Amino acid sequence: MELVMMELFLLIVVVSIAVSQKEASLLVKHQDVEVVSVAIAYIGYLALAVLSHVHIRGLFPFSPAIARLVTILHIVSIPLLIFVWMNSIEKRLLSKRSYSLFSRVQGALLVLFSVASFVDLTFNRLYVFSWEQMIRGGWGIPLMLGLSTFFVFVELGTALVKWKLIEWHERAIMVLTALFLLFSLVLFEVFRQPYMLSLSSAFMLLLSFLSWQRKELLLDWLTRIPNNQAFMKVLNKGISSHQHRTILLLDIENFRLLNERYAEDGGDAILRSFADFLKTTYEQAEIFRIGGNRFILMFPWLTHNELVREVNIIKEKTAKGCTIGETQVSFHVNIAIVEIPLQKNTVDEVVESLSFTMTEIKEKRRQPVIIFNQKLIGVRQRRLDILSILRKALLEQDMIQVYFQPIMDVDGNKPVAAEALMRLQDERMGIISPGEFIPLAEQAGLISMYTEIMLQKVCAFLIEHPSIQERLSHVSINIVAEDLAVGDIACRLLDILSQRGIDAKKIGFEVTESMVLSSDPVVTKSWQALRNMGVRFFLDDFGTGYANLDSLVNLPFDVVKIDRSVVSNTTNSYELLSLIAGMLERLGKEVIAEGVETLEQLEMVKSNRISYVQGYYFSRPLPPGDFLSWLEASSAD
Ligand code: C2E
Ligand code: CA
Ligand code: CA
Repeated sequence: MELVMMELFLLIVVVSIAVSQKEASLLVKHQDVEVVSVAIAYIGYLALAVLSHVHIRGLFPFSPAIARLVTILHIVSIPLLIFVWMNSIEKRLLSKRSYSLFSRVQGALLVLFSVASFVDLTFNRLYVFSWEQMIRGGWGIPLMLGLSTFFVFVELGTALVKWKLIEWHERAIMVLTALFLLFSLVLFEVFRQPYMLSLSSAFMLLLSFLSWQRKELLLDWLTRIPNNQAFMKVLNKGISSHQHRTILLLDIENFRLLNERYAEDGGDAILRSFADFLKTTYEQAEIFRIGGNRFILMFPWLTHNELVREVNIIKEKTAKGCTIGETQVSFHVNIAIVEIPLQKNTVDEVVESLSFTMTEIKEKRRQPVIIFNQKLIGVRQRRLDILSILRKALLEQDMIQVYFQPIMDVDGNKPVAAEALMRLQDERMGIISPGEFIPLAEQAGLISMYTEIMLQKVCAFLIEHPSIQERLSHVSINIVAEDLAVGDIACRLLDILSQRGIDAKKIGFEVTESMVLSSDPVVTKSWQALRNMGVRFFLDDFGTGYANLDSLVNLPFDVVKIDRSVVSNTTNSYELLSLIAGMLERLGKEVIAEGVETLEQLEMVKSNRISYVQGYYFSRPLPPGDFLSWLEASSAD
């Protein structure tokens, strides 16, 4: 009775393991279902055990023929369970070829034994039954035990041969499973009791399930290679044991576009194929997928030549690409390389250096492979310094300076407006140019505060020098999309103007195309509110972006500024400039040509009927005092 109750209880336990493994494995693609198959074999074994023991204990006696059939099925189910179990472990350890050989030989033995057992239902040689239909003798049971023991030894042998490739907790599970099973088989032989076999099997199954789950936590669900968490662990271990390593961060460029083009399944296929390539090509490296389109290859330390070789292999592969359905997709991979140990030896430092190097690659757009080195350490240090200056300057606003560059009417070369350009003045680093600090301020989320300060300063300047308001139609300030993305920004900017008593018409905002293309409704709303108050908008850097004609026609720009690169582009005697100027003229836009440095450029601009220019030819951006004197001098001419 207790035996049957116990077996029923174990049945419940294992069914729930199988169900939860199945559920968990639904979340991951291409998982190895070994625990499920072992659990199913075990459920079969237990169900037959319950049936046979129900009969033996007299709880529900069967007819003699059925009783014999159930008993033999039960006996055959024991080596079957052990075969499925051991085989699932061997499958993980062995190469495809040896696995298929091993499993065929063992499978054939099992089939032979099963057939012999069933045939024996009529011969009664292997199994000698008593009149109560219990087994009294014969070779069947020793054969079954021998076969099962053989299966266990094959697994144990395989595990020992592949010992070095197995993680320690897997070793423990493999060896423990084998030992428990052997022990149970011995007990079965001595006492003819299946208690131990049923109990230890359930217990080991539970352990395997837990270990599978643990492993699953460190595996990427899509590519089945270790994930970011696993990378952190391995990196941590490498750093604390002072290993020399070369780490490659691989980033598939424009993956978002690939995903859009080939749909998500296609994107997944690219990632899987790339992961497979890495797995099969780099056996001596540890491979991780640490996020969306990013992979890590962690090598033992590589010499320069070795590194070049590995990088070339990756480049060749990605140029060849992979096939999705019937299309061949090639892609481009950026590679950031960091060697450990580094100066500051922490996981954070290594991860930061990798992502910093990748950012450098993306910003430079020329070099797809960069090694983190002393020079980059300098670049990064300078960025960190500027970042702290940016924070400091918010408190000490004298460090933020406004320079003014005049905008000239080509008809009479008179200044008609000005652009306000920001500078940062630091005691140690001197004057820092906006090309360097504006992107950092944007990244750090500080840009809107800087825009407000600029507006304050420009207003203060205009108040202090009322004559400027008379002489110049407006002063323009550069803003970025983020400036208009905050809900109340338009009100705040207009508040500044009204507090200072400045007419909104005296201020212009220069925006770039990327901002025009922003579909954020808050941006559009702020823009509209500012325009309604008379603030003017200028499209900056025209000719560098994607030149979306729609935006030009439909959006309310007062003036378009043609970028310096167009003005200085002399190929085919300024053809690009003529083209762009002609188009803008047809659209009826007013135009400012930026970056005019020479008389020749000025003449070209004039001949294209552009009315306004800005550039070093007339004046560089000047600090307020110098700008005032320059204005004086130019009116005296
Ligand atoms: P931008 O808006 O295109 O500003 C014009 C840049 O071209 C200025 O550089 C100016 O000094 C330079 N420039 C003007 N004429 C010539 C010329 O004839 N030859 C050459 N080689 N350069 C000329 P700057 O002041 O270094 O500013 C760089 C960029 O930083 C600006 O480009 C703008 O995008 C940004 N920036 C400057 N001040 C601010 C600001 O207050 N806020 C924001 N958000 N961005 C700013
Ligand atoms: Ca500008
Ligand atoms: Ca510009």
